[in-house]
Amino acid sequence: MSEPRYKRVVLKISGEGLCSPGNSGIDGRQLLKLAEEIKLVTDLGVQVCVVVGGGNIVRGSAIAKDSPIEESTGHYMGMLATVVNALAVQDTLESIGVPTRVQSALSIESVCEKFIRRRAIRHLEKGRTVIFAAGTGNPFVTTDTGAALRAAEVRADVLLKATKVDGVYTSDPVKDPTATRIESLSFQDVIERRLEIMDVSAFDLCQRSGIPIIVLDLWKTGNMSAIVRGEGIGTVIGAG
Ligand code: UDP
Repeated sequence: MSEPRYKRVVLKISGEGLCSPGNSGIDGRQLLKLAEEIKLVTDLGVQVCVVVGGGNIVRGSAIAKDSPIEESTGHYMGMLATVVNALAVQDTLESIGVPTRVQSALSIESVCEKFIRRRAIRHLEKGRTVIFAAGTGNPFVTTDTGAALRAAEVRADVLLKATKVDGVYTSDPVKDPTATRIESLSFQDVIERRLEIMDVSAFDLCQRSGIPIIVLDLWKTGNMSAIVRGEGIGTVIGAG
């Protein structure tokens, strides 16, 4: 088998990816499917970081709306939700033999490590999948920004943005049957076309750090590992 194209990847998965379609909470089958897709990548000898969102449990701005909860508190609740998800992903990965560590941007020392960049890199070098929880540790941003930040900090080769569709389309493929998938885009193309791939801050960080983003369908069996090998289906942004 050919050498993987990427040696160190950061996978960003939204909290929605951990629950069954249309529901909230955490679904064991979704977790297992996610873990199996990650294992296909780690089996290639590729170092994997996972950044999990928390939208299946709490989104800060939504929970604070029309409520006595202050918006900042809502965001901290959202960050804690990502820790809940990270622990679920950790146990699931370990149940199929993938060694892991969870590192959180907020200190919760009895359940996981605090994020320490050099220690995270050491874990990766030892073959452990590192799950980054609590986003950036700061309110008013999202885990997309957390993923871009961690990708830059650990000098990842690529940021894999998992979605339900297999890339970026010329228009919404759900509404427009003539929509076609775009193979690749430059960072500038994305800005000019006003495509909403990730938060502006996340996108900007990837552009400045020269980290390409690949938008992919994580749920298509074997697709993520194929992408890491330089094959597979997705839209590549900012490569070369
Ligand atoms: N959040 C935050 N700071 C961060 C990351 C997340 O305040 O650095 C909060 C924010 O309220 C967000 C929630 O955590 O809505 C859950 O994260 P996100 O919306 O990114 O989850 P996803 O949509 O990816 O499931």
